[in-house]
Amino acid sequence: MDREESAEIAAELDEQEEADPPASEGTQAAQTTPGDRTEPSVQSEEQASNLMIPVLGVSASDLTDNFEDERGGGTRLHEAIDIMAEAGTSVVSVAPGTVERLFRSDQGGNTVYIRSEDRETIYYYAHLDEYAPGLNEGMTVRRGQRLGTVGSSGNADPEAPHLHFEVMRTTAEAEWWEPSTSVNPYPLLTRQRRQALEPAS
Ligand SMILES: [Zn+2]
Repeated sequence: MDREESAEIAAELDEQEEADPPASEGTQAAQTTPGDRTEPSVQSEEQASNLMIPVLGVSASDLTDNFEDERGGGTRLHEAIDIMAEAGTSVVSVAPGTVERLFRSDQGGNTVYIRSEDRETIYYYAHLDEYAPGLNEGMTVRRGQRLGTVGSSGNADPEAPHLHFEVMRTTAEAEWWEPSTSVNPYPLLTRQRRQALEPAS
C-alpha cells in the first residue's frame, strides 16, 4: 500500500470514528499472548514460501507479473499482482492468519487485510464481489480458507474482474493502514509451484 492510500484510509477512518468505534482493538489484544512470539524472520520466510494461489482454479503458470506496472499516471507503481478470473470465483487465503480488517474503500472496493501469525506480513485482497458468509474481523483463518469471491468492486474495470493481491511487510506493532513495504507476490506464488512439482525426496 502506498503512502497516498494509507493517508486516504487514515482520513476515512477518522470520519468513521463516531459511527464505527474501533471495536477490534480489545479482541485483538486478547488473542495475543505475550511470550507466544517466535523468531519472526525465519517464520516469515517459511510462510512466504508456502503461499497458496489466492484464486481457486488458477495455477502458477496463469499468473502475470504486473508488480511494476505504473499507476497514477506514472507517479507510483502497482506493487501488487492482478489475478484475472471470472466474477464469482472463490478467493482463498494464501496463508494462515487473522482477519485484521474488512474495509470498503473507493479504490479497492471490498477489501480484506489478513495479518500473518507473526504480525509482520499483511496480505491484502481487493475488488472482491462479496465476502464469504461469516467472515469477520478478528477471526483466524487457515491457509486455503475461503474469503469471498472475485469481482470488480472499487475502481476495477467491470469488464475485467480480478483479484488485486498485495503482500506487505510491516512490523508487529504497526497498524494495518500504516505505510508498509510491498514485496512482489509473483515469485512467492510461483516458487511454490516449482517446489510442488519437484519430487519430495
Ligand atoms: Zn491491481
